[in-house]
Amino acid sequence: MTTVSLGMPRLPAAGVPDVSLPADRPATGGLVDRFGRVATDLRVSLTDRCNLRCTYCMPAEGLPTLPKDAVMTREEIVRLVGVATRDLGVRQVRFTGGEPLLRRDLVEIVRDCAALTHRPELSLTTNAVGLDSRAAALREAGLDRVNVSLDTLDPDTFATLARRPFLARTLAGIDAAAREFDLVKINAVLVRGVNLDHASELLAWCLDRGFELRFIEQMPLDADHAWDRAAMVTAAEVRDQLGERFALEPDEEPRDGAPAERFVVRDRTGRRLGRVGIIASVTEPFCGDCRRTRLTAEGGMRDCLFAHTETDLLGPLRAGADDAVLADLWRTAMWGKQAGHGMDDTGAGTDLDGSGFSQPERTMSAIGG
Ligand code: SAM
Repeated sequence: MTTVSLGMPRLPAAGVPDVSLPADRPATGGLVDRFGRVATDLRVSLTDRCNLRCTYCMPAEGLPTLPKDAVMTREEIVRLVGVATRDLGVRQVRFTGGEPLLRRDLVEIVRDCAALTHRPELSLTTNAVGLDSRAAALREAGLDRVNVSLDTLDPDTFATLARRPFLARTLAGIDAAAREFDLVKINAVLVRGVNLDHASELLAWCLDRGFELRFIEQMPLDADHAWDRAAMVTAAEVRDQLGERFALEPDEEPRDGAPAERFVVRDRTGRRLGRVGIIASVTEPFCGDCRRTRLTAEGGMRDCLFAHTETDLLGPLRAGADDAVLADLWRTAMWGKQAGHGMDDTGAGTDLDGSGFSQPERTMSAIGG
């Protein structure tokens, strides 16, 4: 393949790759790929550790954790977020994990990112265990929004799904988030035979409190490799389940690249109660509108949850790469993003369901959901 270097020639230091952009890539500043998508939304995993063991994500015994020195430090995170926002056009940054509240320096990370010249919108995805004591400090540090994962309001079902009896702690965290932040979103995964029939109750609870609930189709990112397409709860089933109690109508507001398909929720008399979202990553994929780029806790850039490859940015950063080199590495890697995750492929394969798709080695907790 022919390559052209951009800018002045640089002599790479040991461990710093010599970056040259692919010849067919336009020399624009942003994170474009060959299908014309532009990534402006960055997910940063702050840790691979979690205090829950959700059945659809982690095994009961947990996963081997990264050594401390393999995980990005606060300074490294802020440096890469700075490159993304200043040089690559990233506008939104969401901190995730693992469980980001397990980072003792989370408030400082948020504060430093909020102080960047090209300040991104900052949000957090969390299970909210322990958020009650930190929500105020996070808001003061500059956090804009919080998404909390909550699959059920029943303590026993929560303990079954999360393998930890922490419902009360999560609810305390949600209360604190509601006090501190204008918009709280709740994410729920439904599992057949466990919490599918809790969907309407969870929606009613969220609507009462002004929270926006989003149901996420279960994706094949579990450590146990127990995901089964035939058994997963589909977006269509979620709509049917909710339709037994509410009237749903498609939201008029443009989706604008958002993963959730949104519906206006009304009661049987036609009174508007709020909204609900359904993220149909498996049955109605939205890869064509994807605007995501991701950093794992050890500084690997992933262009998709389901990618089989990663581009190490932390190694070059530690080896002395300057921001321009890091930005070029990131751009080059994004240029190679696939058209889609392939879960909806048909054709021969040695995978989950006979399609061309195969599950990535990393679980959701290790990538950063
Ligand atoms: N610990 C934080 C939390 O609980 O929100 C952040 C990380 S968690 C991996 C992020 C989101 O991914 C959660 O809403 C969780 O329910 C979702 N998730 C995990 N495994 C999933 C899977 N296999 N399919 C769909 N969503 C999944």
